[in-house]
Amino acid sequence: MARAFTFSSLVDQGEHLALGLGSYLRPLTGTPVVRVHSECLTGDVFRSRRCDCGSQLEESMAAVASTGGYLLYLRQEGRGIGLYAKLDAYGLQDQGLDTFEANMALGYDEDPRDYRVAAQMLIALGVNRVDLLTGNPRKASELASWGIGISGVFPTRRHETSENTHYLAAKMSRGHRFHPQAPVSPVDQHLYS
Ligand SMILES: [Zn+2]
Repeated sequence: MARAFTFSSLVDQGEHLALGLGSYLRPLTGTPVVRVHSECLTGDVFRSRRCDCGSQLEESMAAVASTGGYLLYLRQEGRGIGLYAKLDAYGLQDQGLDTFEANMALGYDEDPRDYRVAAQMLIALGVNRVDLLTGNPRKASELASWGIGISGVFPTRRHETSENTHYLAAKMSRGHRFHPQAPVSPVDQHLYS
């Protein structure tokens, strides 16, 4: 069971959504587990094998629900460049550019996402400290810079397909991490047991 939260007056005026999952008001570990997920229509809905978004979404919803916390679903399609531009970037990736290089070739920053809105949503929910589920170090540092305490950072697993190997390698080249196969901390054991 999930509770959906909507917001008004967010900094970017986007229709971002928060889902309260599991015992989100009383997380089993005392700290809500939070996943900040950027919308990916092709991966989340159509389960494209070019990226790992759909699998990450599924994994994080289960992990958040097991402890209690929030999924923040940010409408930042294509790392914030939009759906049509992302499809154009896919064309460039088919010619050999990686996901970041393709964004730049189209005239965008390689990753223009801004997580201020996520911090704003958490503060509106009364959440000022989280266990964050992410392999992207920028999400943790940006949330911290906007006033959210980060108790722990727990990378999601590596969801590899025959078509997303280069995509995952590009993410790792920009500092992304994936969860090791064995749990490494008590919260981690709880999330992944
Ligand atoms: Zn995706």
